[in-house]
Amino acid sequence: MFNLRSIQIYLTNQTAPTVWVQSGATLGELYYKIWEKSENLAFPACVCPTLGIGGHISCAGYGNLLRKYGLSIDNVVDAKVVDASGRILDREAMGEDLFWAINGGGAASFAVVLSYKINLVTIPNPVTKTKTRQKSSTVVGPGVEEKRLQIVRDLYDYMAAFVSNNPRKAYLNCRDVEIGSKSEGNSVDAYNEAKIYGEKYFGDNFD
Ligand SMILES: Cc1cc2nc3c(=O)[nH]c(=O)nc-3n(C[C@H](O)[C@H](O)[C@H](O)COP(=O)(O)OP(=O)(O)OC[C@H]3O[C@@H](n4cnc5c(N)ncnc54)[C@H](O)[C@@H]3O)c2cc1C
Repeated sequence: MFNLRSIQIYLTNQTAPTVWVQSGATLGELYYKIWEKSENLAFPACVCPTLGIGGHISCAGYGNLLRKYGLSIDNVVDAKVVDASGRILDREAMGEDLFWAINGGGAASFAVVLSYKINLVTIPNPVTKTKTRQKSSTVVGPGVEEKRLQIVRDLYDYMAAFVSNNPRKAYLNCRDVEIGSKSEGNSVDAYNEAKIYGEKYFGDNFD
């Protein structure tokens, strides 16, 4: 996989930019290449830059854009694999069952994935950038604890102006407080039930 790490970004269709990314590339390499093209595009996946595309996507992949754009596999549109007979197959050739299996089922059981074709999603311009520096001190003496606490309080005061007072609309929300427990019934009922609470809680970020 080490030699399979090319990343080709296609921006010709601006409404749905796509990328063919080979399985040996890392998430960090993918994010960097996307950033080189546009600060307003992203791929929903883990924040850890060292993970490999092959293992991360084939195991589903969740990250900070989950709430808004779903898992990594929700944004996979095609793939190329080598099957046990040595054939190289794309989505059409492999069929929907195998394509489904390599998107969340742990691809190693089914084929070797050479590359995935993914859709990029749009993200807003960053509204805040901060850089925090703190000098480390090994001396622990009288008043040091209070001094450190004051540094943290000062930081909180400084940051207050930049932090949303409505974190419920944030991209990343805790899912354990998301939509409560699901009652029995079909999925449409469950969705409509969740919507009553979900739209109040997450606003436009519910769907
Ligand atoms: C520090 C850290 C943070 C993490 N954070 C998150 C997170 O926030 N969200 C999340 O969803 N997951 C997270 N994970 C889990 C991570 O997504 C999985 O461990 C993933 O399987 C790693 O993939 P890899 O390619 O780097 O690892 P590998 O160990 O190389 O691969 C994992 C599995 O996938 C198979 N595989 C890899 N490439 C291919 C291929 N091309 N074709 C077929 N099979 C292949 C391997 O055979 C192996 O069974 C994290 C893991 C770590 C170590």
